[in-house]
Amino acid sequence: MLPDLRPLKLATASRLLDPSKRICQYEVPGGGVCRDENCEDAHLSRIAGHGGRGGAEPTDPETAEYLLNALPSKWLADNNVSLPKVSSAIRQVRLKNPQMGFEERVAHALAALGPSLPP
Ligand SMILES: [Zn+2]
Repeated sequence: MLPDLRPLKLATASRLLDPSKRICQYEVPGGGVCRDENCEDAHLSRIAGHGGRGGAEPTDPETAEYLLNALPSKWLADNNVSLPKVSSAIRQVRLKNPQMGFEERVAHALAALGPSLPP
């Protein structure tokens, strides 16, 4: 069973919409695309998504941190799962399957880390 990812996505969306953040310089005056995953600025393209995909997606480290808090600690301990491991598992899945949706990607990453989660 997959942990509920909605709080993570909501948190990401509200952060991206934070009016105190400046708009990323790569996207102003427009047309540009920021390729820096760790860029902390607001990105209009990420809020809107690309062709209905993407949108307010958390970064891999953010997702990993959220999952580590959301997953049962016994499962984490049994499978020796750590923050860097989760982060790199998500990254691997994303690199291999660039078209894969966010939830599916997380599911694949977790499946690579250990046996399926208890419901
Ligand atoms: Zn940027």
